[in-house]
Amino acid sequence: MVGMKTGAPQLDRDVTVEEKRAHRLERQRARRAADPEGERERQRAWRQANPEKEAAQGKRHRERHKEKIAARMAAWREKNLNRLLAYSREYEATHKEARGAYHREHAEAYAALARRYYAEDRGRRRVRRRALYVKNLEEMRKQGREKVQRLRRQHPEWGTNARARRRLRMAAGFVPLRKGEWQAIQNSYLGLCVYCGKRPARLTPDHVVPLGSGGTHVGSNLAPACLPCNMSKGKKSLLLWIAQTTRIGGGR
Ligand SMILES: [Zn+2]
Repeated sequence: MVGMKTGAPQLDRDVTVEEKRAHRLERQRARRAADPEGERERQRAWRQANPEKEAAQGKRHRERHKEKIAARMAAWREKNLNRLLAYSREYEATHKEARGAYHREHAEAYAALARRYYAEDRGRRRVRRRALYVKNLEEMRKQGREKVQRLRRQHPEWGTNARARRRLRMAAGFVPLRKGEWQAIQNSYLGLCVYCGKRPARLTPDHVVPLGSGGTHVGSNLAPACLPCNMSKGKKSLLLWIAQTTRIGGGR
């Protein structure tokens, strides 16, 4: 071939970009191992002499390893959360005016962000609250009882009859059902009263373990019942009610 020097490497194919790059990295590793201090110095000098190339190289690197870098940064943030929070607090404290101005300038955007987060967090918040409630059932019940007592002191006009006591218990922070949960419970029983099997116009939630016996207003303790069954069972336990009536499955 014209112009080919004897002694040039004889390759029977084109060398790919990746191979060139691997070769370059290999040579760099060897140089670094042989003379780490000198290599560092050489690289520093090269970076100083070629700021644009250095920047372009960094950009290429960041683009090529985008996901890896993001994962590493997320892990770092997770690990250094307290440090970051401390830094942020310190920054806020020492840059009060600038931060205040920035917040005022972007007040609408901040408000929109907060609204969006609040809306998006709705479902998660409910799940978190329920999980917490179930995990600390005893403590939550104790808090519930205390809240009942507090409410009763604050609202003597609410009275002390059974209905009022029940309303108090319901008001005392029992975890609200998930949206659609009561409907889903009714559907899972095909819209029938669990006790008599009839299909009433309206099903009422029966607390299988009565509220007064430590049952709570959670889905797992609710059964769809027709009003007559529900009123007949009242605050009796299920077993006691069955024992006292032999009408199950046959109406009242
Ligand atoms: Zn019924």
